[in-house]
Formats: sequence, C-alpha cells, structure tokens
Amino acid sequence: MTGQERSEEKSECVSMSPMMEADPALPESERVCVFGTGDLGHSLGLRLLQAGYGVVFGSRRPHSSSRLPHGAQVLGHAAAAQSAHLIFIAVQREHYDFLVPLANQLKGKVLVDLSNNLRKNQYPEANAEYLQSLVPGAEVVKGFNTLSAWSLQNGPSDANRQVYICGESAEAKQAVIAVATKLGFSALDRGSISVARELEDFPLQLFPQWRLPLRIAIGLSAAFFFYLLIRDIIYAYVTQGKDISFRIMVSLANKVCPIVSLIMLSLCYLPGVVASFLQLYRGTKYRRFPDWLDRWMLCRKQLGLLALGFAFLHVLYTLIIPIRYFVRFKATERTVSVIRENRTTEFDTTTAWRSDSYLSLGILGFGLYVLLGITSLPSVSNALSWREFSFVQSKLGHLTLLLCTAHTYLYGWNRFLSSSTYKWYTPPGYMLCLVLPSVVLLLKLLLITPCVDRTITRIRQGWERGADQRNPKDSQPLIP
Ligand code: NAP
Repeated sequence: MTGQERSEEKSECVSMSPMMEADPALPESERVCVFGTGDLGHSLGLRLLQAGYGVVFGSRRPHSSSRLPHGAQVLGHAAAAQSAHLIFIAVQREHYDFLVPLANQLKGKVLVDLSNNLRKNQYPEANAEYLQSLVPGAEVVKGFNTLSAWSLQNGPSDANRQVYICGESAEAKQAVIAVATKLGFSALDRGSISVARELEDFPLQLFPQWRLPLRIAIGLSAAFFFYLLIRDIIYAYVTQGKDISFRIMVSLANKVCPIVSLIMLSLCYLPGVVASFLQLYRGTKYRRFPDWLDRWMLCRKQLGLLALGFAFLHVLYTLIIPIRYFVRFKATERTVSVIRENRTTEFDTTTAWRSDSYLSLGILGFGLYVLLGITSLPSVSNALSWREFSFVQSKLGHLTLLLCTAHTYLYGWNRFLSSSTYKWYTPPGYMLCLVLPSVVLLLKLLLITPCVDRTITRIRQGWERGADQRNPKDSQPLIP
C-alpha cells in the first residue's frame, strides 16, 4: 500500500460519521460511486439517490465535503472505489492523473468518463481514451457528458431524454445503460471508444444545422436592404430632393421581410427538385448526391422555419400600416383635397378584385406556412405517419410556395410593364425575388407531368436505367 493510500484510509475513517452511509445491504449493482463532488458530481449523485441507488462519493477531502446530497456517503477515492463496481468520474480531465495510484482498486471496474472539453481538438486523444490509457485494468465507458448538471437535477424531459455512450466492453456498456434507464434516460450505444471524441464534441456544437440558413438569411436581408435603400430612399433624395429616410423603419423592413421569406421558402424546395433531376439524369437512386446537395437538403427545415419567421414579421408590419403617422397623414390629406376640389372618384371593380385576391392569397399562404412550421416540430411530426408528413411538407409546401408567389405577382400587377418602376434601370425587389420561386414551380410542374413522374417513381422504387439490358427480367414495369 502506498503512502498516499494509507493517508487516504485514515482520512476516510474521519469522514464517514457526518454523512448517512450507503446501505451496505444493497447489492453491488445497486451501489454506484461518483468521483468528484463538484457541480456534475453533486447533481448526478442526487439523481442516483432519487432513483434508489446507494451513492458513495470519492473525494480528495472527504472530511470537509459540504455540498453532498442528503443520504450520500463520502470517502477517500481508494475506499470509495471498493464500494461499487461502477464509478462515475465527475472530475476535469486535467486532474485525471490522481487515478494512476488507484490502478489496483480500479482493476475490473467500470469507469464512466463524463468529461467535456472547452474547445474541439483540445487534446491529441479523446478524454475517454486518455482515461483508459491511465487505468488500463478498468473498462472505460464514455457517456452522460451531453447532459448538464442543471438538466440532471431537473430530471429527463422530452428535450434531453437521450444519452449517448460508447466503449469497448459490451458488459460495461450494458451496466451503464441499466443505470441510465433507471434514471429515466434512454441510452444510445454509439459503438467503440473511438467514437468518444465525437461525443465529446457534441456539447461544443453551436446550432450546427442553423449556421448555413442563418448566413443565407443575414446575407439576403443585408443585400436587399441596401438594394432597396438605394432604389427607394437615395433615389428620391437624388432625383427629387425628398428626404423619406423615415421609411427605413417600417416600409423598407416590410419589403425586405417578404422578399427574404419567399426566396428562403424557394430554397427549401429547390434542392428536392434538383435531386429529382439528378436522379432522372443518372437513371438511378443508388448514387450518392454531391456533398453540397446533401448539406443543403439537411438544412431545409431550418430554412423553412427562418422563412416562416420573416413571413411572420411581414404580417406584423402589414398589420400596423393603418396606425402609422405617415399613412394617417396621407389619408387625411387626400380626403381633404377631394372635398376641397369637390372631386369624386369612380369605384374600380378590377382594382377591388386585384386587391382582395392579393390579400386573400397572402392570408392563405401564411396559414399554410404556419401549418408547415407546426408539422416540422418534432413532437408533431413524430405523431404523423410518413405519408401524412410528406403530404404536408411536400404537397402543401409547394402549394404554399405557389400561393405566396401568386400573392407577389398580384402585388406587382401591371407595374411589371411600367417604365417608371425601373428606377435607375433596376427592377424592384419584389420582381427580383420572384425569379427563384417561379423557376422552382416551373421545374416542379415538369416533374409532375405524367411521363416524368412515372420515370422518377420507378427510379425511387429501385429501377435503374440500363439494368433492363443487363437483366431482361427487370424490364417488367414496376407500376402496372
Ligand atoms: P467542478 O464543479 O469543477 O468539480 C470537479 C470536482 O473534481 C471537484 O469538485 C473536486 O471534487 C474534483 N477535483 C478537482 N480537482 C481535483 C484533483 N486535482 N484531483 C482529484 N479531484 C479533483 O466540475 P464539474 O462541473 O462538476 O465537471 C466535472 C466533469 O464533468 C468535467 O470533466 C466536466 O467537463 C464534465 N461535465 C460537466 C457538466 C456540468 O454541467 N457541470 C456537464 C457535462 C460534463 P472533490 O473536491 O470532492 O475532490
């Protein structure tokens, strides 16, 4: 026995009195050990106690540990290690060398490595691999590191029910899965210890799926803001000397939001169309899509939700139009001038039709937009069958794009043909934003024509062009 172990033994004797001891009658499988009495160790110990486990903490200072959950026992590391087969290491990786002198006591034990790092690639090897190299006689399992001390204390909820584990020993992983299940989590075995680095990188991720859609949204907003600023505000100042800069706050924002929303909604449906044409061109579904297309398809949900956000802002800006000072002033001025000049204006049925259709299509489009957003929530989409989900997201999704595009065409109406619309020879923002959705809708129309649709359906059912010659049996049509 080393000097350090002997001194630990002494301090352990002092430490046990103030704490309630873990029930010695409990079988070893019902007792767990937690090294480290910090934030995570404390929360984990509490959850384990609540789940009915006997918990023994291993600490450097067992006699002065004051933050332990009621009902836990605290010992020095060596003695604590002997009290249970499964040991959670709730200590920062930098301090793992304290485990080296404990190698004998840890032989054959299951060590659960909970550690995370401050940044990716902070160390040459994964923390779990490093732990295994320090204590080769133990079975290291990486796990629980994706939970925070806070979420552990609050218990599993829908959002954080999943824990990931990995390790070499199937038995050791089984023991950890059993504890996770008893704590109310669902454990997913991700494989061998070589996956540990990936699990350690999980908590460092910052909205990875949202990065590209957010960049697109910011880029489009900035580009259209400056484009409209030049066309609407600076143009009026330069050509007429009029200062209408106040329009930046509402009018300009209310132009940028629908433009960005419509373009992003089209970007949601464009990759699906591109993928279909790629499959048609290749005549098979068994060849991988290019990486850029894969990445694009994976962030469609985020693109759609951001598009919905912009559409929502457009609705809010539109609703406040009647209470704007500028609008009220103009309306009063017009009424007064009509009365003063004793003018009457004819009711124009065409304009009424156009205005009502424009508003109605906008409302219907927004209603479907909201439906798409709701069905993309995991709790709702999980309750739908695949057919229901694809009906809403694909069929109703394209219908939403069609309604919103028609809404924008009606906004333009006859202004498309008027030369005064093209200030400084530039088209207005709403015309530019119509290009992409129109292309997507035209391509989709091509895809749903019966002959193209039949071929694409066959490809998706496994038919390959050219395979007919290779195997005549395959030439039987898949769809009668
Ligand atoms: P912490 O609050 O700093 O606690 C770490 C504990 O380690 C200390 O309380 C101490 O316990 C022990 N310790 C400190 N220095 C030591 C040394 N030189 N030798 C041996 N033991 C030492 O840290 P934490 O937030 O609980 O995190 C613990 C581990 O869990 C870290 O690896 C972290 O990455 C990981 N993690 C934390 C969270 C979280 O939400 N906090 C979430 C996921 C993963 P004693 O004084 O009792 O010895």
